[in-house]
Amino acid sequence: MFDVDKIREDFPILKQKVRGKQNLVYFDNAATTQKPLSVINSIVDYYTEINSNVHRGVHYLSGLATDEFEKSRQKVKEFINAQSTQEIIFTRGTTESINLVANAFSKTFLSKNDQVIITEMEHHSNIVPWQIARDEFGFTLKYVSFDEKGVLNQEELFSMINENTKLVALTHISNTLGTINPIKEIIDFCHKKNVKVLIDGAQGIAHTQVDVQKLDCDFYCFSGHKIYAPMGVGVMYGKKELLENMAVYQGGGEMIKEVTMEKTTFNELPYKYEAGTPSVADVIGLKYALDYVDKIGMKDIISYEDYLMEYTTEQLQKIKDIRIIGQSKEKSSCISFLLGNIHHLDVGTLLDMQGIAIRTGHHCAEPVMQHFHIEGTDRVSFSFYNTKQEVDIFIKGLLKAQSMLM
Ligand code: PLP
Repeated sequence: MFDVDKIREDFPILKQKVRGKQNLVYFDNAATTQKPLSVINSIVDYYTEINSNVHRGVHYLSGLATDEFEKSRQKVKEFINAQSTQEIIFTRGTTESINLVANAFSKTFLSKNDQVIITEMEHHSNIVPWQIARDEFGFTLKYVSFDEKGVLNQEELFSMINENTKLVALTHISNTLGTINPIKEIIDFCHKKNVKVLIDGAQGIAHTQVDVQKLDCDFYCFSGHKIYAPMGVGVMYGKKELLENMAVYQGGGEMIKEVTMEKTTFNELPYKYEAGTPSVADVIGLKYALDYVDKIGMKDIISYEDYLMEYTTEQLQKIKDIRIIGQSKEKSSCISFLLGNIHHLDVGTLLDMQGIAIRTGHHCAEPVMQHFHIEGTDRVSFSFYNTKQEVDIFIKGLLKAQSMLM
């Protein structure tokens, strides 16, 4: 499919030894992905050669920086197949993107009798902004449940929607259960009822082929760092017509057309939502990351990661007392599990001592933990640079941890 060994050459961090001893096995990709050399070099090049503030300068460097910055917007547009670059708003990440929508959409379109629906499998960043907006604007916030396998109760969602429902906000892929939600079906149903849909694409962007026009979603939010780009940059995609009619979010430089001491008129899209100096180098790095993903090909990435996930699941299921949390048929890229009664933190710590990086805890999805009456899980999550050999090392390490702790 593709040469994983060759790909790993592009990720220098993977070559290091943990505490100078163990080879690093990095299975925490749902938290953040590692960066290829092309991305790292793009940041060095930016600061070495063209560092300058964007958009407002007449001088040479500012022109270069602005060109590179806007090339990245064009790349994102193509990557998710948006209709226009005016629909691509650069933010700091998924969290800021959702906060932007929760604030601006609520301010513009929601009042006391309205209803917003989210799900019980959301990351906190698609819960808390809605709770804050609910408290400020007075609408009702409802939650759709999921079943024991981690599958969203779609019928429950459909039956919840009524004439007061204005927006459904849900995750494309759960960062805890791995569930891939049937977002296209949900979007189509919602649109028939005149309900807008926001997709939290923090995980979806790196593990599915996202086409916002085909999906027809109203908003799609993601973070660069989950798709091999630097931290500090994210995207809020929104349909142009909606964004044009929505209130502004943060105020400051760049988002204005004219400011007098009495009032301000606002800039056109996308700048209307980009107040202040952006993280220019990181935005440029995002283009290089998406180029890298395109070079490998999302289709092959998905097949390979599915293979790793299925192989790992098979191996895990052979272990006595393993409990896999999240067993949807439509699943991607991560596995949450518990090992008997052993605390998830102890498992993570003993694996770490063997150079294996996994994530432990509630994964910023406490309602998921409440659903299963647990405090947290251990989670492995994959990227295209991981290998079957690494899975074997992880399984061996897990058995060692089990023998030490039981
Ligand atoms: N939504 C989901 C599903 C996530 O997995 C994450 C991060 O783990 C986020 C939102 C928040 O992303 P960020 O912290 O990059 O804003």
